[in-house]
Amino acid sequence: MADYSKDYYQILGVSENASIDQIKQAFHNLAFKYHPDRPNGDEKRFKEINEAYQTLSNQSTKQQYDTMRKFGGSSFNNRSASGFNWTDAGFGNVSDFSSFGGFNDFNDIFGSFFNQSYSSKANRKSQNENSNIEIQIEISFKESFLGVKKDIKYQRTVLCDHCNGNGYPADAKLKTCKNCNGQGYVIKKRHIPLFGTINEQAVCNDCAGRGQIADKKCNHCGSQGFISETKIETINIPMGIRDGDILEIAGKGNIKNKKYKSGNLYVHIHVKTDKNYWREGDNLCTQININFAEAALGIKKEIRYIDDKILVVDIPNGIMTNTTLKLKGKGFKRLNQNTTGDLLITVNIITPQKLSKQAEELFKKLKSEL
Ligand SMILES: [Zn+2]
Ligand SMILES: [Zn+2]
Repeated sequence: MADYSKDYYQILGVSENASIDQIKQAFHNLAFKYHPDRPNGDEKRFKEINEAYQTLSNQSTKQQYDTMRKFGGSSFNNRSASGFNWTDAGFGNVSDFSSFGGFNDFNDIFGSFFNQSYSSKANRKSQNENSNIEIQIEISFKESFLGVKKDIKYQRTVLCDHCNGNGYPADAKLKTCKNCNGQGYVIKKRHIPLFGTINEQAVCNDCAGRGQIADKKCNHCGSQGFISETKIETINIPMGIRDGDILEIAGKGNIKNKKYKSGNLYVHIHVKTDKNYWREGDNLCTQININFAEAALGIKKEIRYIDDKILVVDIPNGIMTNTTLKLKGKGFKRLNQNTTGDLLITVNIITPQKLSKQAEELFKKLKSEL
């Protein structure tokens, strides 16, 4: 979403006549400087820089932006052009940078800027070599309204309990790894086009990051220190969750190296549609059909509420077709708030298609009366 009230040229520190190459160069310098993983990083600034770059690096969005700024029209939606969507995180605030893990991810992010295809957190490494797990689950519309507990079964990597994640038995003899001098990692130089060379930490292959080499292996995990297990986790899905929301469950991802925190589990929620109800914002919506007589005289109608209880809806006399009645507070619970949306009932008045002899007579009388 380009925001023409912002000066993207100023944000990137370039003139309005800057070439695409100059814009790119400015972006690279600033993004490198303000990336949240850098010592003086600034997440807000970094997002702003990215937003400016996404708009100005594309000929057509740049033109649109320039035109809108010149004529001061209303803001325009350019979301699809960005390719990197910072705002789709939904519930759980998974767009924060806490799970970005230093330079490996830094490179991943930059790679994605160039090919414009970054959209999923899948396979993103968390701090270190432990990683996040993403799973998808489907719930009913009613469950999204009322909240639900779900047992989910998934595969994860955990530390080997035979060797406590060490990869060798307790009686093994250890010596310091010569390759990394016991550090567990080695420094590699990496050349990134336009940035120059950066130093990058890499896990030492000889000792798998442990810094020490043992004379015996753990037979249970084959000296890896971790094993794969099938896990059943009970997930608490809160009332009012939306289709597309992502729940973050900290520490329930993979762990391969006990020196670091476990990765997280991300549960993507898919809500099935319902035949009687639908959702608009935080409002629960449904419709009722009534006939002419009911519309003219008014009626109390029973409907099955989403929790299967019977609800009596008072339809006033003289109601017009397509009128929406509102029952306050009967909609979705707002996540992390103590407020709820409303129940909106659209009333349709149905014209009879076939009339009995008697009904026809009555309608004729009614017609002369009206
Ligand atoms: Zn080593
Ligand atoms: Zn083991």
